Amino acid sequence: MKNLRNSFLLTLVLALFFACGGSGRQSTSKIYIVTTTGMIADAVKNIADTLFEVEALMGPGVDPHLYKAKQSDTKKLLAADVVFYNGVHLEGKMAESLESLAKTKAVFAVADGISESRLISTSQFSGTHDPHIWFDVTLWIDVVKYVNLKLQEKYPEHKAHFQQNTVKYLNQLVQFNTWVAEEVNKIPDSVRVLVTAHDAFGYFGRVYGMKVEGLQGISTVSEPGLKDITALVEHISSSKVKSIFMESSVSARFINAVVEGCKQKGHNLKLGGTLYSDAMGAAGTEEGTYIGMIRHNVNTIVVGLK
Ligand SMILES: [Zn+2]
Repeated sequence: MKNLRNSFLLTLVLALFFACGGSGRQSTSKIYIVTTTGMIADAVKNIADTLFEVEALMGPGVDPHLYKAKQSDTKKLLAADVVFYNGVHLEGKMAESLESLAKTKAVFAVADGISESRLISTSQFSGTHDPHIWFDVTLWIDVVKYVNLKLQEKYPEHKAHFQQNTVKYLNQLVQFNTWVAEEVNKIPDSVRVLVTAHDAFGYFGRVYGMKVEGLQGISTVSEPGLKDITALVEHISSSKVKSIFMESSVSARFINAVVEGCKQKGHNLKLGGTLYSDAMGAAGTEEGTYIGMIRHNVNTIVVGLK
């Protein structure tokens, strides 16, 4: 009886293991592309549309700087036909496993599609360049071209399909880039300062002409100290910045401390809303796409600062 019960338990454990730990794929007949961030998955989907199954490991609200691969992620990575990740040390805690995976399968860092001279150098964290490349739409255009190239190399039989979709999507991105620049231009020069939880908006500021300040530096690995908060409070109060912004993938704790600090100094700083910094919004919503997330950010920034 005891043996019977033990074997029943073993079967149950095994069944649970396979049910929870499988790659979770919807279809096993399609080519399976795994990406780290949702933004990269969105780029691949725009090129491959329904031809491939595309899955991002990091969902809405997930901070890629701190993200560690779960057991289920390892299974997905092993099952993937192609893996795309951001690179330039965005996925700080996954870099090693992605590099070792690259020895046995097609694994690409999309930042390799951008000329190094266009990347912002930094000595602020363990990487050498700012990894937030998606915030300059013109850099993201290079990423889309790179993903298209790699997919065409790997699956030449679908070359025409990829090419057609890429041309269509690049046209959308070029128009979208113009819209972003025009919207940011509506903010008066004197108040064109974007203060956020961490330094995710360096590329955005550079290309669209905004001063940017992040409380937490380029990566969220190191937390700000009281000194950083006090310095930012001083700076905001003296420059009369109207609003600062929270981020969907970063804790609001420190930003709230800045608002409180400004209040004590008699400067009524407002929270301008939440920006999608390092992760997109929920799947199925407009913010769950690359263009939708940036559009949400731009609208929030313009309303908050104008
Ligand atoms: Zn970041």
